Amino acid sequence: MSAIYNFCAGPAMLPQAVMQKAQREFIDWNGLGVSVMEISHRSKEFIALTKQAESTLRELMAIPDNYHVLFMHGGGRGQFTNVVTNFLGDNGRALYLTTGQWSRSAIQEARRIAGDQQIDEINIVETVNGLQQVTLPDLHSLDNDYRYVHYCANETVDGIEVFDSIDSPWPVVADLSSTIMSHNIDVSRFGLIYAGAQKNIGPSGLSIVIVRDDMLSLPSLVQSSIMDYKITKDNDSMFNTPPTYAWYLAAEVFEWLKSIGGIDAVEKVNQQKADLLYACIDSNPFYKNGVAKVNRSRMNVTFQLVDDSLDAKFLAQAEAAGLVALKGHRIVGGMRASIYNAMPIEGVQKLVAFMNEFAKQNS
Ligand code: PMP
Repeated sequence: MSAIYNFCAGPAMLPQAVMQKAQREFIDWNGLGVSVMEISHRSKEFIALTKQAESTLRELMAIPDNYHVLFMHGGGRGQFTNVVTNFLGDNGRALYLTTGQWSRSAIQEARRIAGDQQIDEINIVETVNGLQQVTLPDLHSLDNDYRYVHYCANETVDGIEVFDSIDSPWPVVADLSSTIMSHNIDVSRFGLIYAGAQKNIGPSGLSIVIVRDDMLSLPSLVQSSIMDYKITKDNDSMFNTPPTYAWYLAAEVFEWLKSIGGIDAVEKVNQQKADLLYACIDSNPFYKNGVAKVNRSRMNVTFQLVDDSLDAKFLAQAEAAGLVALKGHRIVGGMRASIYNAMPIEGVQKLVAFMNEFAKQNS
């Protein structure tokens, strides 16, 4: 069978080397004669795995010592809730910046939990010359006092990438679900980073939280113990039984990333992949993209066929050529190629060749 390239936005493809290793170890992990998913999370073997996972992640992202790394349940949306319940006790207020679908969903959840009065919103995306563009206002000029400012660094649905850091008088809480570990960031600029695992980390369900120590002293609301950051930290992310198999796969993905040269190396390839795809879209009048160049996502490349009556034909022929899951999110339509760390450059080259050929055949 020729290679299938899977452009799904998430759950997304995992590195092939990781999947093959997991397959080899599926029923006999570490010579124990049983699967890693069949052993106690409190066994010395599993604890060793978790320690290794954390230390590799810390090394990859250069996470400073005053930050805790938590492995939690609940994916990305779980953290939409957790940041509110952990930080907005005693009527604290938060500021949310809107840039697209996922930041809007985060605000909705925050308002559901804390109420409208505690959540302020600034929409920072606007259409300039027909293209969506993000501009950050001067947050220092705002009068209110906030516990945190929340933003989504990469809008998976819209294909909009925002800032790697924000100049803010308040701690910055960032949803990095679809961009974590795809390029270097300075963790010390954040109060808290979270990410659902199913794009650049591992299988869905798991989420990673990287939180600065002082954030854990903020007043919280009454909440579930398993979603409490402090309880999670005090119990090494094992207050209850964690999703052990997902944790194992995440640990393998971290090792794989380290083995290919870490985030420096993957960042270069990610840039090449995105450049190839956007160059194809820009140079071919058959396709268009509605995002300003400075805000184009390196992970989720959205594009439309100028003649959208050809969408179904495009998708069917792409799939027949082994290029799968290119349909855009149901809310925005069009196409979306998600090209996370695990997507080899050959997949993008094949997609570009297909797009050029399809345009030629149908123009
Ligand atoms: N934030 C972003 C940026 C996402 O892309 C997603 C999922 N695609 C979520 C949050 C929600 O993640 P989950 O489905 O794991 O709750």
